[in-house]
Amino acid sequence: MTTAHQVVFVAPGRMEVQEHPVPSIGPDDLTMRVRRVGICATDVHLLDGHLGDPFPVVPGHEFVGEVDRIGADAALARGLRPGDRIAVEMLVPCGRCDRCRQGRYNVCEDDDRAAGGRGRQYGVNMGGDRAPGFWGGYAETLFVPGEAIVHRIPSHVDWDAAALVEPLAVASRCVRRGRVGPGDRVAIIGPGPIGLLAAAAARAAGADEVVLLGTRASRLELGLSFGADDTIDTSAETDVVAALRSTLGGRTADVVIETAGSAEAQVQAVRLTRRGGRTVLAGALGSGRPVTFRQDEDILVREVEIVASFLSAGGYEPALALLARGDFPFARLVSHRFPLERAAEALELVRHKRDGVIKALLVPQRAG
Ligand SMILES: [Zn+2]
Ligand SMILES: [Zn+2]
Repeated sequence: MTTAHQVVFVAPGRMEVQEHPVPSIGPDDLTMRVRRVGICATDVHLLDGHLGDPFPVVPGHEFVGEVDRIGADAALARGLRPGDRIAVEMLVPCGRCDRCRQGRYNVCEDDDRAAGGRGRQYGVNMGGDRAPGFWGGYAETLFVPGEAIVHRIPSHVDWDAAALVEPLAVASRCVRRGRVGPGDRVAIIGPGPIGLLAAAAARAAGADEVVLLGTRASRLELGLSFGADDTIDTSAETDVVAALRSTLGGRTADVVIETAGSAEAQVQAVRLTRRGGRTVLAGALGSGRPVTFRQDEDILVREVEIVASFLSAGGYEPALALLARGDFPFARLVSHRFPLERAAEALELVRHKRDGVIKALLVPQRAG
């Protein structure tokens, strides 16, 4: 019997590398050999127990790899065979609820109790004890049932760049939710991986001017390679609205995308939006924290449209197209690579933002 290794978060603050038999597959299923998996701040929150109680859970939702074994019906339906390079979406839609039927499978209404009302997400809320296991990317193998959404990775996109497909899909959804189009002036708050990728996605969507706002000079600098025309170091400005106005020739932004995940950034996002413009709130604050807006001055009389953008639904197609075009130096975002058994060290690096980390990856399979 073949076995595979995976990292299991067994309880808050406790993780182990475990070896389990690779599950057998039915006609609709496949298994994927994981080539790269991105480490996300979400994984740190998951380990700390801030995302409910999914334990035991195999983390990792930013994975790419190649088809290992595939059932006959899956091979036919998906047009895939062993060895094909694929990206599997982290959201597993039920395909039956009203939201899934609308294509909004990021807010799938199935599985409410088991998953805390968030639908099924690989590496986040699909418990490690749910049969047949292998529901997370920190592993040599991933189990992929018939309802999972699978995309082919173009052959010229290398694994490091391909590993950015999930955060780029999240960024692409933000841009789509903000209806960014030709001529738009776009401000993006937060120069983390999602913010940098949102700059690239906004540029690709035709934005006229893209301004990246944040506090880390090296990150802001990097933004200039990812579609940003200008940057604003918000820690150096007493009036950020005035700073954006002066950058944009007296105007504020048609669309503001907030990816920083702080209450302050969300309030700022609304104020940086022009009258009648659109604010996209995409950052997670951590559970239960309220945000206070000046409803009349900042929202009502300026009729600012505020939308949320959650996860990656509909984002993989534009993300893969963008990766395939290669207009941006995506692989530069990959700052670190670790083998599976050093996952704990990698998570601490991400937690403390040490060593200039941008995106750290695990490389579970040695070859390739
Ligand atoms: Zn993530
Ligand atoms: Zn659903």
